[in-house]
Amino acid sequence: MTLQERDKKVVWHPFTQIKVAPLPIAIVRGEGAYFFDDQGKRYIDGIASWWVNVHGHSHPYLAKKISEQLSVLEHAIFSGFTHEPAVELAERLLKRLPGNQSKIFYSDNGSTSVEVALKMAFQYWSNLEIPKTKVIAFENGYHGDTFGGMSVGARNAFNMPFSKLLFDVIHIPVPVKGKEEESVSALKNALLHDDVASFIFEPLVQGAGGMVMYSAEVLDQLISMCRAKKVITIADEVMTGFGRTGKFFAADHLQHKPDIICMSKGLTGGVMPLGATSCAQFIYDAFLSDDKMKTFFHGHSYTANTTACSAALASMDLFDKPEAFENIKRIEAKHTAFLQEIKSHKALIDVRQLGTILAFEIKTPEHTNYLNSLAEYISEFFVERGIILRPLGNIMYILPPYCISDQDLDYMYSVVELFLNEQGE
Ligand SMILES: *Cc1c(COP(=O)(O)O)cnc(C)c1O
Repeated sequence: MTLQERDKKVVWHPFTQIKVAPLPIAIVRGEGAYFFDDQGKRYIDGIASWWVNVHGHSHPYLAKKISEQLSVLEHAIFSGFTHEPAVELAERLLKRLPGNQSKIFYSDNGSTSVEVALKMAFQYWSNLEIPKTKVIAFENGYHGDTFGGMSVGARNAFNMPFSKLLFDVIHIPVPVKGKEEESVSALKNALLHDDVASFIFEPLVQGAGGMVMYSAEVLDQLISMCRAKKVITIADEVMTGFGRTGKFFAADHLQHKPDIICMSKGLTGGVMPLGATSCAQFIYDAFLSDDKMKTFFHGHSYTANTTACSAALASMDLFDKPEAFENIKRIEAKHTAFLQEIKSHKALIDVRQLGTILAFEIKTPEHTNYLNSLAEYISEFFVERGIILRPLGNIMYILPPYCISDQDLDYMYSVVELFLNEQGE
């Protein structure tokens, strides 16, 4: 039996309609920006393995540091106990985070980092004895697949079976170019409610919603409006963190800093699952009390997993070297040059970029959405040519590990162009 046949017998895959999906590709090895399958075929990982990979696959330094940690202390309960990797990681994250952030709460993935943020914001108000239960969020957002994450995300085909079970959220338009005023005025109206606990957003780029981008200026305006009404602002940096947007955090593009920041994906360099939620001191302070009921009763068995923290620390070491941001700037410049070259292609509705993210919106007769049937065709087209690009409906994007070579970027651009030429015919 092949690995795929054994897989089909026992495994249920995420975001996959098993009945019609092609058999999964069996990956046996990773190195730098490459994957190798069980037939020995090499693929360029053009999407950083669902946006998590940062320094490349099977990085020897990360492997060494994680393996050293494993033989000293692999994991320890984190309530009533602490350990060096968790403390040092919090210290080093806070040095990189905006100056108003002062505490780190650990969990184990992006969705849980969002749950923690939402619960912190709700309980902040509850602890102050002014309970507020409404959340403001952007239309078209994505914040994970747990119930809190689904509630604040876009209401769409993915959460339709659960729609009645999701909590109350005021969705406002995304302030994309030309829609800034609409978004600002929707926020103004939403802030008239006096029971708004928080405003959650993906800063500057909505990832799963189709790499939809908007300006730092307008987000600054929205954050300052929330601040004036004492509404807690939550930046979900699960995708945008760790260099993706050209700066360490997307919040580094902003003048007004969010109160809470969610991190995961690139946090460990893409090696181990880990989530972290940072918050400003005033939020933490609202939980300090002689009243036990004001405790933040949240935790996971693997909170601050020691090995995952050591992976994140090793990744931070690599970020401290000049090469990390030199690579990010190199990718950014190459993306910009290709964008200029391709932008008026007749198969494109739009092409947009922020930092290392380059997205192409392809013309299609179908209504644009994630379930667009062009997606499977795009995946196959690129896989045949040794590239992994998994589009979001008709939105195709390149979001590579930062170690990718110029040559591999050029090859991906050439295949993108080939694809567009074929579409444009
Ligand atoms: C991926 C993602 C999440 C969910 O993270 P998981 O680790 O997949 O649970 C949440 N928010 C954003 C912005 C994401 O891109």
